[in-house]
Amino acid sequence: MAIFGSLSDRLTESLKNLRTKGKLSASDVDGTVREIRRALLEADVSLDVVKKFTAAVRERALSDDVNRALNPAQQVVQIVNEELIEILGGQQRRLEFAKNPPTVIMLAGLQGAGKTTLAGKLAKWLKKDGHTPMLVAADLQRPNAVTQLQVVGEQAGVTTYAPEPGNGVGDPVKVAKNAIDEARRRQFDTVIIDTAGRLGVDAELMKQAADIRKATNPDEVLFVIDAMIGQDAVATAKAFQDGVDFTGVVLSKLDGDARGGAALSVASVTGRPIMFASTGEGLDDFEPFYPDRMASRILD
Ligand code: GDP
Repeated sequence: MAIFGSLSDRLTESLKNLRTKGKLSASDVDGTVREIRRALLEADVSLDVVKKFTAAVRERALSDDVNRALNPAQQVVQIVNEELIEILGGQQRRLEFAKNPPTVIMLAGLQGAGKTTLAGKLAKWLKKDGHTPMLVAADLQRPNAVTQLQVVGEQAGVTTYAPEPGNGVGDPVKVAKNAIDEARRRQFDTVIIDTAGRLGVDAELMKQAADIRKATNPDEVLFVIDAMIGQDAVATAKAFQDGVDFTGVVLSKLDGDARGGAALSVASVTGRPIMFASTGEGLDDFEPFYPDRMASRILD
């Protein structure tokens, strides 16, 4: 993945240097940890996450177990891999489905993060898996948003619920609630609610998203974050965590060439798992996120 290319190169390089050693001295370990630290910081991984990560690697790499091992350097590589999986959220987390359908999935994030596109991707993916999703246009802020969702819905081959006269025009909370009633009536098993986002974190829109959350009691609230936004990712994620208390993260635009580290910090900083990755504009450019596979790709 281009986005983690330089991080990947740097980490691989620092671990390769280590492999030339037999026994590891404390200064070998410290040297490698310093290189890892620099590589992570240059990739925009947040300082708190870098500190946590390097402290854990250092402590484990200096343990007697590693020293006694036949190939200590290999052990350190393994430790780096495991700690990387840890900051990426550990185990893969699947979507929670409601016992009594419909399952409600709400999307939140800044404008341009990729929410509307994600709604289509998720719907198509769920449909392929035998579900009957319905999209809900509760982004009434952007003039074009409803139409854009309808287009995406058509591409995904699913129904889109859009506000109509008497159906809560102008009130996204009402639209979302009406949509869930409609889904129950028409026996859709999943409802995906697209919400409004602004270019920056915005108190009014955050309250609107919080109101939608309260009124619809979603099974999942997915926070969509553009991996290209760099250093702002962590602050944005924290603001959305405070505002809507999301249950999972979707990293979008992983096909880009940003350094990507900030997005990698989001799971660790918020304690919420990265559940999906978006890797392009097409509806099939989307996959569940596996922390262990991502760690292997980065260390490849
Ligand atoms: P929203 O404002 O959060 O609903 O964002 P949109 O879904 O409208 O996406 C904003 C722009 O980013 C659109 O031009 C999308 O085609 C594009 N986009 C969304 N996801 C991805 C992705 O994973 N990769 C790339 N390259 N572009 C994406």
